[in-house]
Amino acid sequence: MDHLPIFLNVKGRRALVVGGGTVAARKADLLLRAGCDFTVVAPTLKDCMARLVQEHQVKHKTGDLSADDLNGCVLAFGASADRATNQKLHDLGTAAGIPVNVSDDPELCDFIMPAVVDRSPLLIAVASGGSAPLLTRMLKARFETTVPAAYGRLAEFAGSYRQRVKDSIPNMTRRRRFWETMIAGPIAEHLFSAREDLAADLMDSLLEEAATDGGKSPRGEVYLVGTGPGDPDLLTFRALRLMQQADVVLYDRLIGDGILNLVRRDAERIYVGKLPKEHTMPQEEISNMLIRLAQEGKRVLRLKGGDPFVFGRGGEEIETLAENGVAFQVIPGITAANGCAAYAGIPLTHRDHAQGCIVVTGHEKDGELHLNWNSLIQPHQTVVIYMGLTSLGTIIRGFVDHGADPATPAAVIENGTRAGQRVITGTLETLSDKSAAADIKSPALIIVGSVVTLQDKLSWFSATGVPAQ
Ligand code: SAH
Repeated sequence: MDHLPIFLNVKGRRALVVGGGTVAARKADLLLRAGCDFTVVAPTLKDCMARLVQEHQVKHKTGDLSADDLNGCVLAFGASADRATNQKLHDLGTAAGIPVNVSDDPELCDFIMPAVVDRSPLLIAVASGGSAPLLTRMLKARFETTVPAAYGRLAEFAGSYRQRVKDSIPNMTRRRRFWETMIAGPIAEHLFSAREDLAADLMDSLLEEAATDGGKSPRGEVYLVGTGPGDPDLLTFRALRLMQQADVVLYDRLIGDGILNLVRRDAERIYVGKLPKEHTMPQEEISNMLIRLAQEGKRVLRLKGGDPFVFGRGGEEIETLAENGVAFQVIPGITAANGCAAYAGIPLTHRDHAQGCIVVTGHEKDGELHLNWNSLIQPHQTVVIYMGLTSLGTIIRGFVDHGADPATPAAVIENGTRAGQRVITGTLETLSDKSAAADIKSPALIIVGSVVTLQDKLSWFSATGVPAQ
């Protein structure tokens, strides 16, 4: 971060504007809106500035800029057409320890002015440190169109109730929940349609209720969220929304930083990951933790790689929740098979190659693979194998021993959809050696079937364009 973003309270404080043109007038207008008391130093004023000065009785000095002009100022703007004057302002500011901003002259700037979307008291400031002004303007325009004008009203309304809510609901978690319900619920809707009376009635009755039960009424909930195979762009809107409102998050090793960074910053984070053969936290313990946290009134986010119901043990987790009367939501995610297939350029079905697709786990139970080989070696189908890397040799032998052609195309995709994605293609005969030679690591997905031959042609056009090795 090259700059410290702050919002400065300049109400009743002093400032200086040097220059009498359009740019200076824009700064003067901002200062007026922020309630600042300022002087304009300029030999002459353009119409726009003259109007401001007259309408708001702004002090105007026509003489030369001097050190005294900066007395008691908290900041100063330079927008003179004469660079020497701006330079002088900068030097005087430096000597007096007063931050100066000179328009379009980064070298003379102690601070930069962001593009502002004003929904007072809500303010959105966008800046790129001068490196991409066009992007800044585009973002500002986007905010202008997507942040409803009524958000200011909502912020103001919330502000007027702050102390009362604090007194009625002393518990911080419950208070936060109360606010979120208010901001996303019917109270906000009333405000947006300019019915402040209805909004106030509803708020009052909610606060009365909260004053008697301390805001206990909102109950905890568990969100079982599928996050997809890794690329954060593959999250659903719903997943993102719930990630942003959770109080605590339970995640495991399949969840990358890119996704974890999108969880609300002050949510408590609990790692419950399991490494292969190294069970850090038994499933039962995870389920009990989900129940306990929800019963404390928290919104508990359980992140699952891919989809929670595809080899994700999501079914087991919510079964225990249901038994204990804990409310939950399940949010589907893009499963590894879909993500890897798309990003590697291997369609799972194709009219000329496969009329079906079977998804199985290659995870051995008690040292054995429990697979229905007869169903896996059928022609014109694709077989996707999750968790099959450790037993890749055994799996391939199983295919061949049960009658599959050793020349059947096969692929392994490591880190599908993520930055380090690698795709190894070959046949049942060669895949094991090729994958060992490339030192393929977990997480990896295996795809068997003639659709793999399309990879050559399609990978360059897939989402990442990561070529085959
Ligand atoms: N619920 C998950 C699967 C969890 S099982 C889903 O729907 O995708 C874990 C297995 O998923 C891994 O061993 C691997 O086979 C596969 N997997 C998950 N993410 C992957 C990725 N980014 N690339 C390749 N395989 C992945």
